Amino acid sequence: GSEVGVEGDVDINEEIAEDDLLGGLEIDDTSDIEVPDRLVDQVIGQEEARDIIMRAAKQHRHVMMIGSPGTGKSLLAKAMSHLLPKESLQDVLVYHNPDDSNEPKVRTVPAGKGEQIVDAHQEEARKRNQMRSFLMWIIILLVVGYALLIANNVLLGILAAGVIYLGFRYSNRGSDAMVPKLLINNADRQIAPFEDATGAHAGALLGDVRHDPFQSGGMETPSHDRVEAGAIQKAHKGVLFIDEINTLDIRSQQKLMTAIQEGKFSITGQSERSSGAMVQTEPVPCDFIMVASGNMDAMENMHPALRSRVRGYGYEVYMDDTIEDTPEMRRKYARFVAQEVEKDGQLPDFEPDAVREIILEAKRRAGRKDHLTLELRDLGGLVRVAGDIARSRGHEYAKRDDVLQAKKRSRSIEQQFADDYIERRKDYELKVSNGEAVGRVNGLAVMGGDSGIMLPVMAEVTPRQGEGGEVIATGQLKENAEEAVDNVSAIIKKFSDEDISQKDIHVQFVQTQGVDGDSASITVATAVISALENAPISQNLAMTGSLSVRGDVLPVGGVTHKIEAAAKAGCERVIIPAANEQDVMIEDEYREQIEIIPVSHISEVLDIALVGEPEKDSLVDRLKSITGKAFEGKVDS
Ligand code: ADP
Repeated sequence: GSEVGVEGDVDINEEIAEDDLLGGLEIDDTSDIEVPDRLVDQVIGQEEARDIIMRAAKQHRHVMMIGSPGTGKSLLAKAMSHLLPKESLQDVLVYHNPDDSNEPKVRTVPAGKGEQIVDAHQEEARKRNQMRSFLMWIIILLVVGYALLIANNVLLGILAAGVIYLGFRYSNRGSDAMVPKLLINNADRQIAPFEDATGAHAGALLGDVRHDPFQSGGMETPSHDRVEAGAIQKAHKGVLFIDEINTLDIRSQQKLMTAIQEGKFSITGQSERSSGAMVQTEPVPCDFIMVASGNMDAMENMHPALRSRVRGYGYEVYMDDTIEDTPEMRRKYARFVAQEVEKDGQLPDFEPDAVREIILEAKRRAGRKDHLTLELRDLGGLVRVAGDIARSRGHEYAKRDDVLQAKKRSRSIEQQFADDYIERRKDYELKVSNGEAVGRVNGLAVMGGDSGIMLPVMAEVTPRQGEGGEVIATGQLKENAEEAVDNVSAIIKKFSDEDISQKDIHVQFVQTQGVDGDSASITVATAVISALENAPISQNLAMTGSLSVRGDVLPVGGVTHKIEAAAKAGCERVIIPAANEQDVMIEDEYREQIEIIPVSHISEVLDIALVGEPEKDSLVDRLKSITGKAFEGKVDS
């Protein structure tokens, strides 16, 4: 049937399916999982794109795929080529044109015939050469005989023999020219062509005619022999895949469009100053299906006519980045591990616990509640690194610990930078994770989308210098800081005895190069309140959360990475927005190291963060009452 699953010959325990990372799959290792034969059935998720690919293959339509890298665009394009009929494949031959050698002739024949034709021509040429050789030696013999015996002149004999020999050699070149060039050979092809023309220059895309350094004098290569096929001609009756379509120069996009419209395209030399540019073949067939892809920007920079061509005569589809996490999907991810192992050919199979760890990583990387990431190229990278580690450790099967090690090793540049940064900061003791301090809060941010980093925020309050009270922020998160302080001021005004319009508030973020600004507003608020009230803050604590003007703590991105960063930096507790509780997917190791405290209101944050009982109590009480949302443990948002 068309059901794609791993249910083939392995057991599924429905009872434990719900909680188990393998979705109830009962296997000894990944070799128990059957990998589907058809490439299109190996695609995980991307249901819509998969449907469209199958439909477009039937209807011979072009497809535009938009989405993140590594989500299966080229895999789908390749799968499409497997679905196309191979009966219609053809060979293409280029012949010398006796009327105009700069306009070689082009002929198509059914696949497999091309080789035979070239062989026959070669055989004929060989025979003719033999004949000519034979003839030549007869003539030489006669002339030399005549010269020696009758004219009695040795010099004349040698001279005549030489002239005859060269004459034959020279005129022989012409007969080589008669053998056609097999431009495209599909003799041994089992599946329709798949040509990846991503980043191809004009010659590689559209075909080219090589330059001939010897353009005359018997040394030249006949022009038809210098013709080279481009991706569009090689993709004839198959799939032409172009990723990052927008990076293709406009002229090439225009020519590509002509090729699509005509279904054939002449090959000419692409570099203007070469002798190849004088040659132009008869049109070469290029009846391909184009699968173009890119990210959202690709649409904007794509030649509008080319885009509308795809739109009018094909499909556009958006690739998913994540997919809902269900037991069935987890089983498919287990199959993904098996697929990657099989594809690589060198990796050991994975133990169930190792597969679980990969699936956990897919959950974490999704960064979205109850979803799994579909950026499977990267996940495949993790599988390979883990497999290599297992091999180097002499394990017969990849174990959980190999995967954990692989995760450490396959850190992104940002993560490496963040770790290195934390290391360096240790030297300067910027990291304080015990004791207490006034106006200093451990904030958390995300770098490069998947790496957390702990960043202290410091606030100081001084008598105002200028007209009104000012917020002076330093560090690169300046804008964030100002916005956060605006929100905070609204709250502070209501509860504080201090008139903050008479104060300057300095907020400083410790050096923050390369850090994406993320909502750090509860961090800023806490630091400012601490500084205003001279109330110390516990330093074994880190926090993340956004703040509304009413004091509600709102959700933020990247909580998992942030919590891990806090744990790594040595914090014992971390405050997160209650609304983010579901997004937490930290590894077990960290769970033991750090206590996660979900909160919904700034008064809770202060309750946890401030030390020194009496002041704290009054502050927290005031916050609760003044923000108008008497806090009772839950706050809607
Ligand atoms: P893209 O073209 O979107 O950048 P690719 O198709 O080249 O990504 O994906 C690279 C590799 O990642 C594939 O060869 C495959 O091993 C794996 N992969 C990516 N997406 C999927 C998917 N949806 N299902 C199964 N494997 C996938």
